[in-house]
Amino acid sequence: MTRPILATVHTDALVRNLSRTTREVASGGGVRRIRTWAVVKAYAYGHGLEAAVSGFAAADGLALLDVQEAVRCRELGWRRPILLLEGFFRPGDLDTLSHYRIDTVVHSRTQLEMLVAHARPLGIAAHLMLNSGMHRLGFQPDEYRAAFERAQRLRAAGMLAMVGKMTHFARADDDLVVTRRQLDCFVRITAGLPGPVSVCNSAAALSPGLAVSVPAVDQWIRPGICLYGASPYMGRDAQSLGLLPAMTLGSELISTHVLPAGEAIGYGHAFRTDHDMRIGIVACGYADGYPRHAITGTPVTVAGVRTRLVGRVSMDMLSVDLDPVPQAEVGASVVLWGRGGPAVDEVAWSSGTIANDLLSGLTNRVPRRVQALRG
Ligand SMILES: *Cc1c(COP(=O)(O)O)cnc(C)c1O
Repeated sequence: MTRPILATVHTDALVRNLSRTTREVASGGGVRRIRTWAVVKAYAYGHGLEAAVSGFAAADGLALLDVQEAVRCRELGWRRPILLLEGFFRPGDLDTLSHYRIDTVVHSRTQLEMLVAHARPLGIAAHLMLNSGMHRLGFQPDEYRAAFERAQRLRAAGMLAMVGKMTHFARADDDLVVTRRQLDCFVRITAGLPGPVSVCNSAAALSPGLAVSVPAVDQWIRPGICLYGASPYMGRDAQSLGLLPAMTLGSELISTHVLPAGEAIGYGHAFRTDHDMRIGIVACGYADGYPRHAITGTPVTVAGVRTRLVGRVSMDMLSVDLDPVPQAEVGASVVLWGRGGPAVDEVAWSSGTIANDLLSGLTNRVPRRVQALRG
């Protein structure tokens, strides 16, 4: 008898969210074709690479971090470009990149030195990252052009197939003034340098008019979270953005109780009943990736009825209020997030975090079932 928890991955939603995102960007008014790196890092935000490779078949490339995951995408039949968002880590990685045709971000002088020292044709593209104000990765504005020229010389010598330009926004979700300032910095520093441009994550890609205002002949957006049906904006729901949840986390009631008024529940007795109350115990806890910091009141759906979490989430279980669902017995279906339940964003916001954290934090002990595409 297996534990009833299950994450169902809806491949059709991946397809829909990708087309929705690219259509949204195109509707910004540009006539130029904008291409898409579908971001599939962290095991496709917890959805699995199999579903991602199939669901994002219409994307122009896949972007991720881990060389092994990149190789896995090739093994799954992905033939278009793959980009390593943090680039490579050691000189020994370069032969693998070359063998599997994996493109790389180059964000530091250390990486540039490794490319120079490799001294053999790689046949891959290098995308040079500018630090335009995020202060995480990238060349400083005053060193960018020199780094770019060095990469161009490697290309001229036949070592690299192409050199591109990238930057990353810190506040595309909540501050367009800061974002515009970063974009202005990027445009100023990269002026006149050839090659493809990539600057927009989900929040920037879905900001009306932002992507089309990037002066680039060959632009690639880099959406991640929106492709999985969650919102890149705090407090703005994914449904209003036309996105569909790509994962449903489901489980069942494994116990029910009637508690008299004044009884307290779970660790720390963090919730106390103020009337006679039916409580359900769900086979899902923080060791599955459900957030331990979810507060009493976080929405949960039981037998199709929206109710709420009560008390503290434990490692393997959580408690729910069964007052709105008096008919629910052991075995009743529970949706923690996704289709037929609350949006993953709601659960995340009730836990002081974002959907990216919950989706990518689903643990290995939760079995995944991929709903393949029909036809
Ligand atoms: C994760 C990541 C993205 C995608 O971000 P979302 O907010 O999920 O759209 C894009 N670019 C880089 C460099 C990233 O690390």
